[in-house]
Amino acid sequence: MDERYERQIVMPEIGAAGQAQLRRSRVLVVGAGGLGSPVLLYLAAAGVGTLGIADNDQVSPSNLNRQILYGVRDVGRSKALTAVQRLRALNPEVKAIPHEVFVLRDNGLALVQQYDLVVEASDNLETKALMNELCVRAGVPLVWGAVSRFEGQMGAYLPGHACRSCVFPHTPAPGTYPTPAELGVLGASAGVIGALQAVEAVKILLRLDKPLVDKIVLWEGLWTSFEVVTVERNPQCPVCGTV
Ligand SMILES: [Zn+2]
Repeated sequence: MDERYERQIVMPEIGAAGQAQLRRSRVLVVGAGGLGSPVLLYLAAAGVGTLGIADNDQVSPSNLNRQILYGVRDVGRSKALTAVQRLRALNPEVKAIPHEVFVLRDNGLALVQQYDLVVEASDNLETKALMNELCVRAGVPLVWGAVSRFEGQMGAYLPGHACRSCVFPHTPAPGTYPTPAELGVLGASAGVIGALQAVEAVKILLRLDKPLVDKIVLWEGLWTSFEVVTVERNPQCPVCGTV
């Protein structure tokens, strides 16, 4: 028994078999920023065997209030490559794979198909909509999240259940909604949502009892409220619809 995972293996929901399952699992994290940082750190620490990191950005000083994968020395460096080094230092047993790409419709499907689960941790609505579409097409589970200021939301898609587009069918055009740079975000808010995404990813990989399907979580930090809202699959959904 690997001492590193003692606190996980002791849990009946995980055990030695679950730990071996995590080691066999491949997760793609799209966006190595405010949400991607806690997601990647927790999944690497938990022993998820293969972690893909899709990000084509470089570390800037304004990232450091929330993107806890990086430090001052990393400013100007590739996020994907820096994240790989950080995750290897945390857990050398994890295979961390950099994908220095901006995921698009023409390169994204082949990428998604290499993984068992995708965590969408980007900062823009177009990428969120695209990752949902690609995961539905590939039949790959998705855990998505969004954060700004003192609030955030997250949910998961499994084949046969409501997808993100069932809930948010319309993606506003770029430039018509405020960017994270304009809205602002507290680093710890990204930590709240990112940690929830990591928990949900582990649950789905281990096929635990109650994955967060047909529901979304809304978190508000100033008044401290969590709300779990039930959502329904939309037969007319532009992505997963059956009509
Ligand atoms: Zn749908």
